Amino acid sequence: MSELNGKTAIVTGASKGIGAAIARAYGHAGAAVAVNYASDKAGADKVVADITGAGGKALAVQGDVSKEADVLRLFDETEAAFGRPNVLVNNAGVYQFAPIEELTVEHYRRHFDINVLGTLLAIREAAKRFGPEGGAILNVSSVAGRGVYPTTSVYSATKAAVDHVTRILAAELGPKKIRVNAVNPGGVETEGTHAAGVMGSDFEKQMIASTPLGRLGQPDDIADVSVFLVSDAARWVTGETLAASGGQR
Ligand code: NAP
Repeated sequence: MSELNGKTAIVTGASKGIGAAIARAYGHAGAAVAVNYASDKAGADKVVADITGAGGKALAVQGDVSKEADVLRLFDETEAAFGRPNVLVNNAGVYQFAPIEELTVEHYRRHFDINVLGTLLAIREAAKRFGPEGGAILNVSSVAGRGVYPTTSVYSATKAAVDHVTRILAAELGPKKIRVNAVNPGGVETEGTHAAGVMGSDFEKQMIASTPLGRLGQPDDIADVSVFLVSDAARWVTGETLAASGGQR
């Protein structure tokens, strides 16, 4: 595969789950990839080894996307290793579900700081640092930004915000030749959904029942669409939120 030859991509939250699958797919498609992680260095190193072992270019970079200094360093280290980035994937995200009676300010701030502020900080840097030829930004959102799922009010609000930020910044950054799109997964089996107790739960059964293609997604289902959306084949696509969900709404 060579769809991303010559591109330099930053993928946030790429030590596991959907982000790791996107980073691997980008590396195998020819991009040099900065594999960002927050705490799981071993996971990020494994993703880097998978890419470099297949002849690609990759680098693990620690950084918490909700911290401004870390985002600046992520871009600095990527540029030092591979030159100016021209692809950014905002995948880092957290999700915990709880009834509204259990809402805490800490829960709210953690979700909005990582899922929304982290996305905005990274796009700010991309807008400043992509070259005159522009580039592509992909936000990993969720069908939850539009769906109506009880107990997910805080998480779903972050993804509704990401969807609208996608549309606004596509309009704002179009003149700089920067495309901004979102991919919106439905339920996907990842380390995160295992840790959250989704797998094997009634919630998993409900998600499968509401998915026309009849199963949960796998990270590669999202990664393949994510290659397309930042590739030149999608050069006329911007401001879109594309559900990759087996038909789940
Ligand atoms: P996951 O398995 O829990 O992996 C999360 C990744 O994000 C890890 O690499 C983690 O890094 C990183 N991360 C968390 N906080 C971070 C921070 N502050 N700064 C940088 N990185 C951070 O999650 P996933 O299920 O793959 O989900 C990935 C994205 O897809 C999220 O945005 C999520 O909302 C979205 N999504 C997931 C599903 C699903 O069903 N899985 C459905 C729709 C949308 P460390 O492990 O190194 O700490």
